[in-house]
Amino acid sequence: MKVIGMIGGMSWESSLEYYRLVNEGVKTALGGLHSARCLMYSVEFAEIEALQHRGAWDELTDIMTDAGQRLRKGGADFILICTNTMHRMAEAVEKEAGIPLLHIADATGERIRSMNMTKVGLLGTKFTMEQDFYKGRLQEKYGIEVIIPDDRGRDVIHSIIYNELCMGTIREDSRMRYVDIINELVGRGAQGIVLGCTEIPLLVKQGDVKVPIFDTTAIHAKAAVDFALQ
Ligand code: GLU
Repeated sequence: MKVIGMIGGMSWESSLEYYRLVNEGVKTALGGLHSARCLMYSVEFAEIEALQHRGAWDELTDIMTDAGQRLRKGGADFILICTNTMHRMAEAVEKEAGIPLLHIADATGERIRSMNMTKVGLLGTKFTMEQDFYKGRLQEKYGIEVIIPDDRGRDVIHSIIYNELCMGTIREDSRMRYVDIINELVGRGAQGIVLGCTEIPLLVKQGDVKVPIFDTTAIHAKAAVDFALQ
């Protein structure tokens, strides 16, 4: 079994899910007391969040590449970045760490393609929804059309992520606001909804939504287990 290296702490609320999911995945595959060989380097999220909102992407890239190198030195065979947003610098992390990185948008793109969908809605931080590193990859590599909420919707999604979900707060009224925004995307033709932020699955469940959802945390963790056991 390969050693999974996780860059976590963004936020630790979702990193907990990764830890649980990779262990559950190995247990399901191998049974008994089997569990995942893994390492997590968990960052200081207040520092990360401040740099993100200042647009200090070069400094963030340094922090992330340093984390990747720490994991390699600790014995990781491959890397997961446990957040969609910080895949903005995935190529740099993989290059500097010198071990493979399993990209969350690839795992998600493959899942969407396996369900024969061609148009999905994307929810995530504004960085993920508005910049090209995520949508572009789904579009160019997998031929999937990606639509996002309007300005107001993006503000709502983003602020609930940072002010509630990353702080462990789950509110019913916020779930309803998310569901309204999702319904709008479905009305615009989305065949499925990518929960493209690793905390959103803490708030929105399949039962809340009429079309299939893509839980990127679970999809990414599953891809890691498959790769580790290959
Ligand atoms: N975990 C979130 C994501 O998947 C947001 C936190 C972050 O900015 O990294 O994008």
